[in-house]
Parts: sequence; structure tokens; C-alpha cells
Amino acid sequence: MSKIYIGIDIGGTNIKFGVFDKDLNIIGKSSIEAKVETGAEVMIDRIGSHIEKITADNNYTTEDVKAVGMGSTGQFNLTEGIMYSCPNMPLFKNVPIRKMLSDRTSKPCVIENDANTACYGEYACGAGQGSDNMVFFTLGTGIGGGIILDGKLVHGTDDSGGELGHIIIHPGGRLCGCGQRGCIEAYASASSTARRATEAVIACEPSSLKEVLDEKGAISCKDVFVHAAKGDKLAEKIADETARDLAIVCIIMRHVTEPHKFVFSGGMIAAGEPLLNAIKKHFADMIWSMKKEDVEICFAQLGEDSGIIGAAALARDIK
Ligand SMILES: [Zn+2]
Repeated sequence: MSKIYIGIDIGGTNIKFGVFDKDLNIIGKSSIEAKVETGAEVMIDRIGSHIEKITADNNYTTEDVKAVGMGSTGQFNLTEGIMYSCPNMPLFKNVPIRKMLSDRTSKPCVIENDANTACYGEYACGAGQGSDNMVFFTLGTGIGGGIILDGKLVHGTDDSGGELGHIIIHPGGRLCGCGQRGCIEAYASASSTARRATEAVIACEPSSLKEVLDEKGAISCKDVFVHAAKGDKLAEKIADETARDLAIVCIIMRHVTEPHKFVFSGGMIAAGEPLLNAIKKHFADMIWSMKKEDVEICFAQLGEDSGIIGAAALARDIK
């Protein structure tokens, strides 16, 4: 039987698994509870057991598994396969997670941060296919990023390359969770977009969002885009500023690595074409005139599966 690859995506609540063939077609997927409070050894053992189960469930044996890829939030030494720390998993400190998984499964393993696995998934099988130079954003509570340069993920000196959410676009501006001021994450993530709208409504700027705040006690990013689509001026302004700030980062990155594609993913892309078109418009308005830029700005295609697909693709590409 042909070889298969396992892709794993560790989240704070669940761990997702996918079984893939050599062309990264998905054969089967499932998930287990993360149970992060049990610590690294128990979790890796449970992951090993579930790999055996999902392999058998799909009529393969563990002999057929060629390699395993795993993505997770957290800080890593990717060369050594060590998880330094993870906000979702406080017990995981300086854990040699790749070696533990490799010992448990007797397979070659690769570990990556989850924004990079999602990026690699879109590169291998999604919106970034065929584009060896690509920049990827996840727009959620924060802004994650990944960079494909000449067909490879960019890691940098200390594996923090591609942290695009912390590009400063407003010097001296809003304090970001990272300690810098003015990061794109502090303005244009879903949470930050909602926060800017909430602050404006509390400051008595007229808006239909006031009713949302009065009724629900909070304004979501989705509310901002829904009310913008209905023509609320404040919501339109906030949504447009978010798109402009994202376009600024695209222009910065265009001048850094000259990607052919910018791929946006995450919960905020549910805002749809109005968001995408606004990013494209601001990009076109602000980009230099030195030459005509042949660049595509688009949404991700793989949804929640991008993590397991990317992890399996990285496993397939282990040298
Ligand atoms: Zn930051």
C-alpha cells in the first residue's frame, strides 16, 4: 500500500488529525480533546495512540505512515524541535516535542507554529498553489503570518520570522500585547477592529452600532462589517481603516520579499468581498508607480483544514 502522511493541528481545546496520501488528498480526519492540563508526556502518548487509531480506521497500518507533521501555537526552536512556551499550554515549557513524538511514533516528525502550517497548507493545496513567493495572514483575535520565499517557509535567526502582526504601522500608537506600540495587530485584527468601533461608540460618535452595544454589551468585528454593509458611516470608516492598514502591510511586504500572492485567512474573511475589495483598492492607491505590480490579493481556500493539510505537507517535504 502506498505511503501516507499524518497532519496534526494542536489547539487549546482540540487536537485535529488528518490522514493524507502522497498528493495530499485527505483520506480521513478526526479530533480528540487536547486536555492540556495533563502535560506533555500524556498528550504526546495520546497523540501517538490516536495516530494508530486513525490509521487503522482508514485501513492502513502504522507501517504505511511515512512521516508526521504537527502545528501548534507557541514559541519554538524549530531546528531542535523544542516548544519553549505556549500560551494555551502553560505546562509546556522547553519541551522537546518533536523528539517525543518521533520516539512515540518511530517516524520522522516535523513541528511548526500554527500560522506557518496554515500558510504552508494554503501554499501546497490552497490559494497559494503554484506561487513560490507568497505572504499569508490570519485575521482573528490577533494577526498571524507566514512567508513563503522561493518555495520555503521563512523562519529567521530565532524562528520568529513571519510574525507579520507586529509590523509597526502607527509609530507611538496603540499598545500591542507584544509590548510594542502601533503594531498592525493592535489595529486590524478582528478583536482590534471591534475594539476601535466600541471606543468610538462609547465616545458618542453616532452609529447604528450603539444599539448593538446597548443590547449585547459588546460589538464584534462581524457587527462592524454588517453595519458597514448597511451604510452606517462609523462602521464604514472603521472597516475601511482596517482594510487600509492591511494594505499598508501588504505594500511593506511587497517591497521586502516581492510575493506574487497575498493570502488572507481567519474568521475576519467572513466579511467577504467588501473587505477584499477595500484592501485591493488601498493597495492600488498607495503602491509605488515605479513599475506595474503584478500581484494577487485573495482569501484562503482551505478553511479550518489548512493546519492539518500544512502539517502533512511539511511531513511530506521532510528532507
Ligand atoms: Zn505587536
